[in-house]
Amino acid sequence: MQNVKNTMLDGLLSVLFPHLCCSCGTEGSLLCGNCKSYIDSVSVGACLVCDSVSTSRLCDKCWQVIDTVWVVGARKGVLQRLIGLYKFQYARSAANALASLLAERLPEDLAVTIVPIPTSQPSVRARGYDHMLLCARRLGAVIRRPVAPLLSRTSHHIQHRLDRRQRQAAMQGAFYVNGLIDTQAHYLVLDDIITTGSTVLAAARALRQAGARRVSVVVIAKQLSTIGPTSVKMAKSEWRGDRVV
Ligand SMILES: [Zn+2]
Ligand SMILES: [Zn+2]
Repeated sequence: MQNVKNTMLDGLLSVLFPHLCCSCGTEGSLLCGNCKSYIDSVSVGACLVCDSVSTSRLCDKCWQVIDTVWVVGARKGVLQRLIGLYKFQYARSAANALASLLAERLPEDLAVTIVPIPTSQPSVRARGYDHMLLCARRLGAVIRRPVAPLLSRTSHHIQHRLDRRQRQAAMQGAFYVNGLIDTQAHYLVLDDIITTGSTVLAAARALRQAGARRVSVVVIAKQLSTIGPTSVKMAKSEWRGDRVV
């Protein structure tokens, strides 16, 4: 109960005082520079998308579908708190902080068209806004790239309680493309959290089946429990994903 009260208070504070750091309370922004440095980068040793053992951040199978993947950090600590505020406390101001984290993770001058994963209708109704579309628009404004909400959901499964195999089955054909694909464009699928990877894989497949030739993925956080225990740190230059951009 205390936790519920605390998170409700957090939500209220973040709406009333979006200029205070959500972690330490310092005045300035929702995430101060000091707390930002505590975001843990994700170690590689398993595919960042599907978790199979891989020396690159994308395994060979995911690489067939996704050109490259960027992840801001592990889903814990300050990053988890920020996502929690954003998703569940209706703090729209967190979108700005998340967009700048995403922009910092991406290479400069990345000529992409941002495609947000569409939020399920029940979630949009509950929050009053589509949180990934909002985040995509803020990111688009920061990196000066267009946003194209090209994906629609064929169904509105809420995935929270599904295990890995159920998620993969539920996500098969979960999206369809609702507009025209530019075959010259490099599409950047944006999602908040990668858990089993089935959502971003389904999105990337839908875009490719509709004619897209280049599809990459950026997410805010990687669910920690899905990272393999054999994870080892790799130098950024060793990541295969960087070579294909
Ligand atoms: Zn702080
Ligand atoms: Zn994979």
